[in-house]
Amino acid sequence: MKFEELNIAQSLKDGIDSFNYQELTPIQEKTLPIILKNKDLLACSQTGSGKTAAFLIPIMDKILYSERDGIKALVIAPTREICIQIEEQIAGLGYFAGISSLAVYGGSNQENFTKQRNALENKTDIIVATPGRFLAHLKLGYVNLNKLLSLVLDEADEMLDMGFYADIMSIISYLPKKRQNLLFSATMPNSIKKLADEILVNPEFIDLNFSLPAEEIEQKVFMVFEKDKAKLLNTVLNNFKNNKILIFAGTKLSVSRISSYLRTCKIKHSSINSNFTQEERIETVQNFKSGNFNILVTTNLLSRGIDIEDVNLIINYDIPEKAEDYVHRIGRTARAGKLGMAISFINENEISNFNRIEKLLKREIAKSKLPEGFSSAPEYKVIVQPRKRRWKTNRKTIKLDKRQKSK
Ligand code: AMP
Repeated sequence: MKFEELNIAQSLKDGIDSFNYQELTPIQEKTLPIILKNKDLLACSQTGSGKTAAFLIPIMDKILYSERDGIKALVIAPTREICIQIEEQIAGLGYFAGISSLAVYGGSNQENFTKQRNALENKTDIIVATPGRFLAHLKLGYVNLNKLLSLVLDEADEMLDMGFYADIMSIISYLPKKRQNLLFSATMPNSIKKLADEILVNPEFIDLNFSLPAEEIEQKVFMVFEKDKAKLLNTVLNNFKNNKILIFAGTKLSVSRISSYLRTCKIKHSSINSNFTQEERIETVQNFKSGNFNILVTTNLLSRGIDIEDVNLIINYDIPEKAEDYVHRIGRTARAGKLGMAISFINENEISNFNRIEKLLKREIAKSKLPEGFSSAPEYKVIVQPRKRRWKTNRKTIKLDKRQKSK
């Protein structure tokens, strides 16, 4: 389906046009009509599926047909980076419609707090916020949410993992009872089902089997001893010159080791980790986005939600312990139907981590032969794990309860 066929405001269509979106992505096809009908929604949504626009477009359309007399929509997301990115999409999509928005997140200076306060007091249409900082503003008493139409919880599983449950519930206590609730989550553990039960009213449920990576991502794997990983990285980077590459490391220490190795090899790159200040992170991501450098080394910090166009290659220098993180990491490439590749380096101690990933993906990934110059490699095998319950609960598809099914 094409955007031009949608029954939404022309000024929004102009905004969509400026992003050059033509066809709706599958999640947009499914969710847009539901949200436009003002229904509550629980969506299990794959990273890179176009879900941000899927909820922003109908919310903005609703705002355009309402009185602009206060904060109309609140989007809560786990990290500053995701907030900034969502807010950038609002700014672009809502440009011709004159929709105002602000990202509200912590860790900034007093000047920013005051700017946030002013916007919160001044009928900004859409607020995109991290839970902690938004609650801090709410507690100070100047935020009026009486006119709110829609609440979005984005990356809800991540927010619960980060311990934001109490903050979210506390924020909800400030909202009008009659409102639309939209809950997006990459996974559907029981905690999310419980949250959905508490917040959503007769929700529609959409599951696009989202734990699996997009088919457009070509996945390649090398078995390699830890001592040879740096050399392998050099070889791979030489084969992918001029590509936009994200290298994921397991720890901050690993990021700095990779970075100093690349410096020794005179390979232009930048790195980012949780020690960086807010400003440094934003600036680095911005410079990567705009192509000032083509290789960015990072931890899982950038594995979720962050949208960087045209990343062609993901390198998993270290294999993540949580299988879901692998899916999130490689979801940084092949965005919105483009092609991309993910190359993973498995050392002698990471075999069981990769076993878990293959189990999650429900398939084996062929182990490629190391390039010339590498004499030996560890052997890949399935390591029998002691029975752990967490496999049972991992990424189960949510089952609608009888009440919802009979609707
Ligand atoms: P998201 O899943 O919201 O992070 O979106 C992933 C990427 O898809 C972003 O770069 C969006 O700008 C892009 N995108 C969203 N909707 C569409 C669409 N209908 N056509 C093409 N690209 C899209």
